[in-house]
Amino acid sequence: MLWRVALLVLAALSLAAGEPRRFDGHRVYRVEPTNKHHVQFLNELTSKYYNDILFWKDASVANRTADVMVSPELQNSFLEALEKKGMKSSVYVEDVQKLIDNERPAKKSRASFGWDDYHTLDEINEWLDSLADSYSGVVTTVVGGSTYEGREIRGIKISYGTGNPAVVIEGGIHAREWISPASVTWFINEILTSTDASVRSIVESFDFYIFPNTNPDGYVYTWTDNRMWRKTRKPYNLCVGADPNRNWDFHWAEEGASSISCSEAFAGSEAFSEVETKTLSEFLTGLGSDLQVYLSFHSYSQLLMYPYGVSSVVADNAAELQQIVEKAAQVLATRYGTQYTVGSIVDAIYPAAGTSIDWSMGALGLRYSFVWELRDTGLYGFILPADQIIPTSEETFDSVLSVLEDVLAASRSKKQLH
Ligand SMILES: [Zn+2]
Repeated sequence: MLWRVALLVLAALSLAAGEPRRFDGHRVYRVEPTNKHHVQFLNELTSKYYNDILFWKDASVANRTADVMVSPELQNSFLEALEKKGMKSSVYVEDVQKLIDNERPAKKSRASFGWDDYHTLDEINEWLDSLADSYSGVVTTVVGGSTYEGREIRGIKISYGTGNPAVVIEGGIHAREWISPASVTWFINEILTSTDASVRSIVESFDFYIFPNTNPDGYVYTWTDNRMWRKTRKPYNLCVGADPNRNWDFHWAEEGASSISCSEAFAGSEAFSEVETKTLSEFLTGLGSDLQVYLSFHSYSQLLMYPYGVSSVVADNAAELQQIVEKAAQVLATRYGTQYTVGSIVDAIYPAAGTSIDWSMGALGLRYSFVWELRDTGLYGFILPADQIIPTSEETFDSVLSVLEDVLAASRSKKQLH
């Protein structure tokens, strides 16, 4: 009895000390739902046992695999339930905690900002501030919005001239996708320091508004409390947080989103219920007709997609967007052979209503909106080792340049027509 009390006290102390949650023995299964009942079953399971059974990749339609993380306590009953329903599965990650333990380099260098390790929100923000000093006249800091916990959505503007079309780069809207802010900060460095003439001619033709962390409350929480956190930190009736990439006001909650607050894809209580999406949308609206390109970075799955995430709408320039992503994926593969799948969100992954890129095209009227799901295809999932930050960033930036080059070429040929 006493040792039990002692253990409880120890547990309480370790919580009080702010130790992050551990995921010893948690496995990730790749599951194959083959009908809509399977999909529904998986969604009910994850909403009900949200502490123990968690989507890494949603089940949204039949015959698309879902990735599900399951605690050791529930693995047997989970597998039994799948078998009963006739669903196949295989183990993708044997022990999530082992991946977390090996995610960052053993020797953590904190001397200067770099890309051999992941960085905290404070480190990223300090680095953004330092750029405004080092590149005054080119870089200015901007605030794209605010958060439930009272933080700012910090970013920078990079501008080499007046009258350039604007590109917004959105990182980290899903908190646990650490490779997103890591890559986005690498892009910033590359835009500012590349001496390659073809890179310079493209990047100096645009104004960039770059936000490495558009869900900063969630990002901080992934460092302090729970590495697997995805949503905002606003409390709802049962659970905390809405999915900020299901919360935008365009065909909100129509499909591929949940009305249950414990779901990883909870759309929020209404469109723009989250202060993060509401304030960021106001910032974007304020850019007016200057804003022409929206680029959003997620992980994982190696996908490059364009709107829409709702099946009821098709982009009127879908053929052009398809050409752009096909070329960009080829360019991306040339450096390290990394293979991407391309298409509209609905075709390439699953329906997902209320995303930022759907809103940027459907509500703001942009012609060029794209979303990347970065490395990998599930062996590490969200916990991509830090030694992959640089190669991931390099290959992805190749594809970003390809997209921007095509946008420039299209706008030039339109000008010639007029
Ligand atoms: Zn994401």
